[in-house]
Amino acid sequence: MKGDTAMDKRRGGQRYCPRCKIIVETRVRLEGYSQPEFHGIPAKKRQILCGTDAEGPNGCGTKWFTLEILEDQVLWTAGKKG
Ligand SMILES: [Zn+2]
Repeated sequence: MKGDTAMDKRRGGQRYCPRCKIIVETRVRLEGYSQPEFHGIPAKKRQILCGTDAEGPNGCGTKWFTLEILEDQVLWTAGKKG
């Protein structure tokens, strides 16, 4: 179906892998992308893969999620408490 698989192997850059316990080269898996709300804050959820290919060569192949939110909104939400 996907002729060019390079399209869904976006560079995730250097990230900390929870299994390798080191900073590794990663890829972002597009199918794991969503925009959930985190405590009412719009966030970007991405699935990260440890490795430089879909099967995880040059990495352990572990997949995990990251949640990206604006710092300002976190501080605002935290400051609002109490
Ligand atoms: Zn790893």
